[in-house]
Amino acid sequence: MQKIIVTGGLGFIGSNLIELLLKNNYFVINIDKVTYSSNFYNVKNIDKKNYKFIKCDINNRKKIKNILNKHKPTGIFNLAAETHVDRSIDDPLSFIKSNIFGVYNLLEEFKLFYKKNKKTKLIHISTDEVYGDILNGRTSENYPYKPSSPYAASKASSDHLVYSYIKTFKIPAIITNCSNNYGPKQHPEKLIPKLIYSILNNKKLPIYGKGNNSREWIYVTDHCKALIKVFKKGKIGEFYNIGSNKNFKNLDICKTLLKIAKKKINISSNVKIIFVKDRPGHDVRYALNSNKIKKKLKWKPDTKFLIGLEKTFIWYFNNNKYYKSLSKKDIIKRLGVSK
Ligand code: NAD
Repeated sequence: MQKIIVTGGLGFIGSNLIELLLKNNYFVINIDKVTYSSNFYNVKNIDKKNYKFIKCDINNRKKIKNILNKHKPTGIFNLAAETHVDRSIDDPLSFIKSNIFGVYNLLEEFKLFYKKNKKTKLIHISTDEVYGDILNGRTSENYPYKPSSPYAASKASSDHLVYSYIKTFKIPAIITNCSNNYGPKQHPEKLIPKLIYSILNNKKLPIYGKGNNSREWIYVTDHCKALIKVFKKGKIGEFYNIGSNKNFKNLDICKTLLKIAKKKINISSNVKIIFVKDRPGHDVRYALNSNKIKKKLKWKPDTKFLIGLEKTFIWYFNNNKYYKSLSKKDIIKRLGVSK
């Protein structure tokens, strides 16, 4: 049985990826620092027979070295990162530590590990935000990086580091850039779970600015399927964009969610849209061109947005214990506007 390391596996995408890897008969080692955005609830229902959790910061080189040498993974999916743009405005340093230094440490240890273990590869998971604001058209893999937030800049730096290790040290690695994910198990500091949390808890629905910011939304399982495809069939040294080709404005997402919710529950009159101060440097639009992965790896997203959004709403509705371990402050407090 192949052993796979997933870093950041207690987070949103990592935990969904682990579920899929286990279904595909891999043994999974989940390495996570256990930050505020992680949640043990996310791995509560997985079959633990072929699963091991190790609490570890990717900055801990000694521990990473030991884990690699002991488990000899054939693949590493690196999802460990600080991920909330608003937090990166208040505290860029934690992003630089995890997303840049952490990746540097991982690369150094992976480089040494690869010297004696040739049957391995690293998949580095990144974002569409590295391309910056895209007012028209869609960005393909050779579009220049122009990140706008400290979060996006830290991810862009990590992508550059990974690529430099591929070119200079010949490590077998692949970089993926995905659009906005939605689905079960996402921390409610992010737009869709925050709106669902607010609907379920009779709170107002805060929308930044006028709600015109447009994002390309992909259901998390579709992203995870693409990652496994990249691991199996992707070409070493390449970048792959992963997106749904479907953009929606924040305000429209909110209105659609309200429609979905109204069909399922009685909504209190307190639940209404309020427009709040915009995020500084808020990019208007991200949009990927994902033709490469569709053509070369024969991947395509399966989940229609309305169906995925309904599934997401139902998951949060049925899993109110998910919120239990989270601090209310982390869910509700407005971040990223203090300075
Ligand atoms: P998340 O915040 O839900 O999870 C991140 C996980 O990483 C958490 O469990 C956290 O504890 C862990 N972590 C943070 N720093 C760590 C460190 N130094 N060492 C070990 N673990 C650490 O994030 P997510 O939404 O699941 O995103 C996962 C990855 O996918 C990130 O790299 C992110 O940049 C990328 N990505 C996310 C999206 C999206 O829409 N969510 C889109 C494209 C790319």
